[in-house]
Amino acid sequence: MNQTEINAENIAYIGLGSNLDAPLIQITTAIKAIDLLPDTTVLAKAPIYKSKPLGPQDQPDFYNTAIKVSTSSHPEMLLKLLQHIEITLGRVKKRHWGERCIDLDILLFNNEQVNLPHLTIPHAEIRNRDFVLKPLLDICQDLTLPNGEVLRDLLQQCPCNNLQPATSPTD
Ligand code: AMP
Repeated sequence: MNQTEINAENIAYIGLGSNLDAPLIQITTAIKAIDLLPDTTVLAKAPIYKSKPLGPQDQPDFYNTAIKVSTSSHPEMLLKLLQHIEITLGRVKKRHWGERCIDLDILLFNNEQVNLPHLTIPHAEIRNRDFVLKPLLDICQDLTLPNGEVLRDLLQQCPCNNLQPATSPTD
């Protein structure tokens, strides 16, 4: 990759989720940490939504939101940086689809498709999760996937998870 490509500004959408240890504070702290990354700036934040867990039901409700960032990192580097923030915030994975203090996912990256063993963009579950689609559409109503699918249409077809607005502690 040449220097121009390394320094190019990319637009990415990141999904944030939490259901442990003061989730609203976890999400707010993670957004601040992302904004503090040297090569990444938070451009827009969606409202935070509360919903019932998808996996095991014997866990607290989830809080989810999405942010839009500009970044000069490439997708794999951004994933590493987000995973570092997850670890710094104390994430310990307990069980599949189970409780977590913070979960950071790259939902979209420019109009790119990435299919690597450890990184899939658009995020593999984007079509099935209203708590991902709704905040993305709050930021930008006209978003599409790289294959041309319209996110507004995907939200209409998506199983409803009874999203409730939640109030951020700092807003
Ligand atoms: P999760 O338990 O949902 O946080 O999944 C974490 C795993 O998903 C990590 O091992 C990542 O390498 C992988 N992964 C694949 N695609 C993505 C993506 N778009 N954003 C974040 N993690 C991803």
